[in-house]
Amino acid sequence: MISQIIFTLLFIGAVAMFTINVRMVIRNINLGRDIKINDRKGERWKQMILVAFGQKKMFKRPFPALLHLFVYVGFVIINVELLEIVTDGIFGTHRVLAQYLPEGFYNFIIAGFEVLAFLVLAGCVIFLCRRYIARIPRFWNKEMTKWPRTDATIILFTEIILMTLFLTMNGSDAVLQSRNYSHYFSAGLFPISDFLSPLLNSFSSESLEMIERFCWWGHIIGVFFFLNYIIWSKHFHILLAFPNVWYTKLTAKGEFTSLASVTNEVKLMLDPNATVTPDPNPGKFGAKDVFDLNWKQLMDAYSCTECGRCTSACPANITGKLLSPRKIMMDTRDRLEEVGRNIDKNGIDFTDGKSLLGNYITEEELWACTSCNACVEECPVLIDPLSIIIDLRRNLVMEESKAPTELTGMMSNIENNGAPWKFSPSDRMLWAEGLDIPMLADVVAKGEEAEILFWIGCAGSFDDRYKGVIRSFAKILNDTKIKFAVLGLEETCTGDPAKRAGNEFLAQMQAMQNITTLNNYGVKKIVTACPHCFNTLKNEYPALGGNYEVLHHSSFLQTLIAEGKLVMKEDNPLKGKAITFHDSCYLGRANEVYEAPRQVIESFKADLREMKKCKTNGLCCGGGGAQVFKEESPGNKRVSVERTEQIMETGAGIVAVGCPFCMTMLDDGIKQKNQEENIKVKDIAELIAEANEL
Ligand code: SF4
Ligand code: SF4
Repeated sequence: MISQIIFTLLFIGAVAMFTINVRMVIRNINLGRDIKINDRKGERWKQMILVAFGQKKMFKRPFPALLHLFVYVGFVIINVELLEIVTDGIFGTHRVLAQYLPEGFYNFIIAGFEVLAFLVLAGCVIFLCRRYIARIPRFWNKEMTKWPRTDATIILFTEIILMTLFLTMNGSDAVLQSRNYSHYFSAGLFPISDFLSPLLNSFSSESLEMIERFCWWGHIIGVFFFLNYIIWSKHFHILLAFPNVWYTKLTAKGEFTSLASVTNEVKLMLDPNATVTPDPNPGKFGAKDVFDLNWKQLMDAYSCTECGRCTSACPANITGKLLSPRKIMMDTRDRLEEVGRNIDKNGIDFTDGKSLLGNYITEEELWACTSCNACVEECPVLIDPLSIIIDLRRNLVMEESKAPTELTGMMSNIENNGAPWKFSPSDRMLWAEGLDIPMLADVVAKGEEAEILFWIGCAGSFDDRYKGVIRSFAKILNDTKIKFAVLGLEETCTGDPAKRAGNEFLAQMQAMQNITTLNNYGVKKIVTACPHCFNTLKNEYPALGGNYEVLHHSSFLQTLIAEGKLVMKEDNPLKGKAITFHDSCYLGRANEVYEAPRQVIESFKADLREMKKCKTNGLCCGGGGAQVFKEESPGNKRVSVERTEQIMETGAGIVAVGCPFCMTMLDDGIKQKNQEENIKVKDIAELIAEANEL
C-alpha cells in the first residue's frame, strides 16, 4: 500500500510539473507576434505525416536516419508499456494487461517492446560513438559549447539506462516466472532479455525479486525525470516537431514576406489618397528582440534538435564565416528562455537592456548570409533560420540605418537609377543594339499582343558579360518566331537586392512601380533569364497586387524543345562535350526548378556531369542575399572558390549557369583558381545560340 501511495504521488507530481513547464513554454512562444497559419490543412497534415512522423527529410543521410528511426519509434512505442506500469503502480497489480488481453497478443506486444528497446539501446550507443569516437564535425562546431554537448550526452545515456533497466526488469521477471515464484505468473515473451537468463539464473529468487523491483522503480522514476528534463533540453523536439512541421511555410522557399506596415506607408507615399488596411501588428520594422519575431519563429527555436545539418550545409559556415544557422536558432531559444525567466521574476514590463540582436547575434553573422536556403532545405523538422536572419537585417537597415557601406551604395543606386549599379536608366536598352527588339508600348499601341514579356533585369541591361546572355535569348526568341516584347526604359529593378539586404521600403517601392507598369499593359506572362527577378516577380509581387505567370528562361526553353519548336543541330559543337550545371539557389531550392536546365543541356547530346553537391544539395555561388554587391564577410575561403573546386572535380570544361550573379561569382572563382583556360562559364541561352550558330 505504501508503495502505491508513493508511486501515485510521484506520478501526480511528475505530470503536474510537466504541465506547468509546458504552459511556460506555450506562454514563451506566445510572446511572439501573432500570425495566422491555418490554410491548406490537407497539405499540412500530409506534410506532418511524411516529415515529422515518417522522418522523410532524415533519409537524405540513410545511416543516421535509420538509427534515428529506431531510437525515435522505439522510444515512442515502448512508452505504451507505461500504461501497464502506471496501472500496476497505482493499483498494486503485476502485468495487469496480461489478465485482459489475449495471451498471444500480449506476448506479441511485449516481444515487440523488447526488440524496440534493444534497437533504441544499440542506436544510442552508436550515436555516442559517432559523437565521441568518430567526432562528426557538426557536433563539435563553436556553438556546441559545454551545455549543448552535455545535454546530448545526458539524453543518450538516460535512454541507454532506461532501456537497460527495462530489459533487466523483464529478464528477472522471466526467470521468476519460470520458477513459479510468488505473484510472477507466466505472461509475456522475452526474445531479448532471455539472453540475460544465464546471468540472472545464478541469483536466488529473493535477490531476483529485488533486482526486478529496483529496475521497475528505476525505469519509471527515470521516465518521470526524463519527461520533465526534455522541456529544458533540445530533446523537446520529439513533441514539438509535430506542430512545428504542421505550421511550416508551404509557399516557395524563395518568397520573403512583405511587411504590411511598410506596404501601407509605400502606398500612401505613392498615392496620398490610397486606401490602406491598418496593420494589426504595427510596431518596429523587422526584429530586434524575440518579441518582434512571430510565434512560429519562436516555436522553431524550441523545436531545434541542434543536429547541425543546417550549419554543415551553410556556404558561409563551410568557408569559415562567423554565421551558423544552428547558432541563430540556439540563440533565439536562449534569449527567449531568458526573457521568460525575467517575466516570471519581474513581470511583463521588465527591462534588462539586452536584445537578441546585439547581445546574442552579431551584425557580422547576419551579413554573411547568402539567403541560399540550404539551411531550410536541410532541416529535418522544417525550421527556417533564414526568416529570422532577414527579420534581424530588416531591423538593422530600417530602424538603425546600419548596413555595410557597399550595400548602402547599392540601395542609393536603386533609389536614384532604378538599378543596383551607377548607370543611367536611359542606357537600359544598349544591350539590344543591332537587334530587332519590340517594345511593349509600341506593340500595345498597334493594338497587338505579345505572347510573352521578356523581363531583362538589371544585370542583363548593364553588365557587359550578361548582355551577351540576353542577346542570345532574344535571338532564340526571334529564331523561334515567339511574339515577345520588352518594357525597355520602363523597366526598373524588381527590388530583389534591396529586399534581401533588409530594405523592405525600397523593395516595395520598386515592386509597386513595376506592378503599376505591368498592370497598365495587362501583362499576363513574363519570361526572364534572372532567377532573382523570376523569384521576386513570381512569388513576391502577388502580395502587392502583381499576378502573372512567370517563367525562368530555362523552363521556357525546355518547353520550346519539348514542343519541337526549338531543335538543336544534330552535329552541334557541344555534342559529347563534358558540361556540368550549377544550380542557382533562387532557381533550385527557392523554386524547385532542377530539371529544365538539365534537359536543355541534354538536348545538345552533351556529357552532363553532376557535381557532388547538386540540385537540393547544391552549393551557393556566394552571390545571393545581396552578397554580390559587397565584399565577402571574413572567412577562410571565398564561397565561389569552394564551388569552383567542386566544378573542377567533374572534369567538365563548361559550367552551365542560369543566373547573372552565379556567372559573376563563378567567373571570379575560376580566376582565383587559375582555371580560365580550362573552364568556361556559360548561360544555357548562350549554349543554345552556340549550338545552333545563332
Ligand atoms: S540561407 Fe544559406 S547562407 Fe544563410 S544561413 Fe542559411 S545556409 Fe547559411
Ligand atoms: S535548425 Fe534544423 S537542421 Fe539546424 S540544428 Fe536545428 S534542427 Fe538541425
